[in-house]
Amino acid sequence: LELPIHDAVLGRAAEFGDLPALIDGIDGTTLTYEQLDRFHRRLAAAFAEAGVRKGDVLALHSPNTIAYPTAFYAATRAGATVTTVHPLATPGELAKQLQDSGASWIVTVSPLLETARAAAERVGGIREIFVCDSAPGHRSLIDMLASAAPEPAVGIDPVTDLAALPYSSGTTGVPKGVMLTHRSIATNLAQLEPVMPAGPGDRVLAVLPFFHIYGLTALMNAPLRLGATVVVLPRFDLESYLAAIAEHRITHLYVAPPIVLALAKHPAAERYDLSTVRHVLSAAAPLDARLAAACSARLSLPPVVQGYGMTELSPCSHLVPLTQAAAAPPGTVGKLIAGTEMRIVSLDDPGKELGVGEPGEIVIRGPQVMKGYLGRPQATAEMIDADGWLATGDIGHVDADGWLYVVDRVKELIKYKGFQVAPAELEALLVTHPGIADAAVIGHYDDDGNEVPHAFVVRRPTAHDLSEGEVMMYVAERVAPYKRVRHVTFIADVPRAASGKILRRELRERL
Ligand code: ATP
Ligand code: MG
Repeated sequence: LELPIHDAVLGRAAEFGDLPALIDGIDGTTLTYEQLDRFHRRLAAAFAEAGVRKGDVLALHSPNTIAYPTAFYAATRAGATVTTVHPLATPGELAKQLQDSGASWIVTVSPLLETARAAAERVGGIREIFVCDSAPGHRSLIDMLASAAPEPAVGIDPVTDLAALPYSSGTTGVPKGVMLTHRSIATNLAQLEPVMPAGPGDRVLAVLPFFHIYGLTALMNAPLRLGATVVVLPRFDLESYLAAIAEHRITHLYVAPPIVLALAKHPAAERYDLSTVRHVLSAAAPLDARLAAACSARLSLPPVVQGYGMTELSPCSHLVPLTQAAAAPPGTVGKLIAGTEMRIVSLDDPGKELGVGEPGEIVIRGPQVMKGYLGRPQATAEMIDADGWLATGDIGHVDADGWLYVVDRVKELIKYKGFQVAPAELEALLVTHPGIADAAVIGHYDDDGNEVPHAFVVRRPTAHDLSEGEVMMYVAERVAPYKRVRHVTFIADVPRAASGKILRRELRERL
C-alpha cells in the first residue's frame, strides 16, 4: 500500500464521520472520526508553523490517551518521523532515545513534563516541547488546533520516507531504533485486513501501550483504518480492564500473555459480563496452549488465538485469522499473511532449509521488513541478508498445513550438557501448578559449570507454604530429566516489559 500512513489510516475518516473513533475509558470523552480527521490536519498545520519540517524526528512521549493518534498522524502529515517513547522512561532513558534518534521535537503530557525537560536538557538539540493537555510555558496541542496556518504541502515518498522509528523492546540487548517507512506500516495494515477484520460498531479496548508496535498496529492504526471504536485505558489493572470490557461492550481483545494469565487466574474475573467479546488475540511473547484454553474456558470467551511479529516486521508476519479461531490447532501463532514468505533454517547451518516439523530459526521476507536499524549498519546486515530475508532470532517449526509454532528465542535457549531447554516450555508448565501465580526461567551456571534452568516463582496468596522442593518435584515428574528445574527462587513479581515480555536480564542480575 503506497500511501503515507496518515492517508492509509484516515482515508475513510470522512465516510465514518460522526462514528466514535476514540473513547476515553475513564471519563467517557469521545472523539469522532470527523474530529480526528480535522484535528490532525489542523495540528499538522500548526506543527509546520512551529517549524517542524520533513525528516525531523518527533518524540511522542505519552501514555495511551485519546489525543495520541491525533498527535501521531499530525506529525507524520507535517513530514516528521515519530519515535514513540515508553511513558515510564526515566530522564536517562528518554535522553538516550532522543540522542540516538536525533529527535528535535517532543510531544508529552503534563505529568511527564519534568522527565521530558530533564532529558531534553541532557541532550540538547530539542527545539520545542509541546504538551497534549496544558502546562505553563509550553504550547498545548489543544490551543494549536486553533491555528489558521495552511495545511503543509509536504511531498512524502511512502517507499523511502520514514513514518515511525519505534525502538525494539531491548529484551536481548540495547533497544534499537527500527526504521519503518510509510509503505512498510501501511502495507502491513493491508496484509492484516482480511485476517483481522473489524468495522463500524466494533469496539477495541486499548490497554497495551500505543508506543509499542503491537499496540500501535492492533489498537490504533488497524481499528481506526476500518471504522471501529477504540476505548482507551491509560494503564493495566485487571479489575478496571474487566469493568471496561463490560461497560463498553468490547468486541475485540488484543492482549499479551500476562493478561491471559491474569484472566485465567484472577479470583474476580468471572464476576464481569464479557459476552460481547468475539475475538481474543495474544501476541508479543510465548503463550502456552493450556493457558489459552484455560482462559477461554473459565470466562466463556472465544478461543484465545495468536499473532507473531516483531518491531522489525512493522510488526506482523503470522496471524491466526480471527474468523478461523475455532479451527486453528492449539498453540499455533498463525499462518503467513499475504505477500510474505518464510523459511525455517538450521541453527547450525543457516544455508540449510528445514522441512515440516523440524525446529529451526524463523526467517521472513516481505514488504513489511524494516528499512534497517538507525545508525547501525552492522546490526542491520546481521539481521537482513542481501536477498531481503530477515533472521528473526526465534525458533519455530511449521506443520503440513502451514501453521507456525514458536518455541522460544535462539538467545534464551538453555544448553544443558548438549541438550537444549526452552525456558518458555518450563514457564508454561510451572503456571499449571495451582499454587503458582506466575513464573520465569533463565539459564544459570552452577558450580560445576553447567548451564541449568533456574526458576523464579510467584506463589499464589493461598499457597504461601509452597516449597522449592515441591516446585522442582512438580516439574521433574512432567519433563525429561535434562529439562528439570535445578534451582528455585521465590519472588513477588515477574519483571516484564510493557509488551509483556519477561525481562530475563533483571532476573540474571538478581542472581
Ligand atoms: P530486542 O530485539 O530489543 O531484544 P524484542 O525482540 O523483545 O527486543 P520486540 O520487537 O518488541 O522486541 O519483540 C519481538 C519478539 O517478540 C519476537 O522476536 C519474538 O521473540 C516475540 N514474540 C512476538 N510474538 C510472539 C508469539 N506469538 N509467540 C512467541 N514469541 C513472540
Ligand atoms: Mg528483537
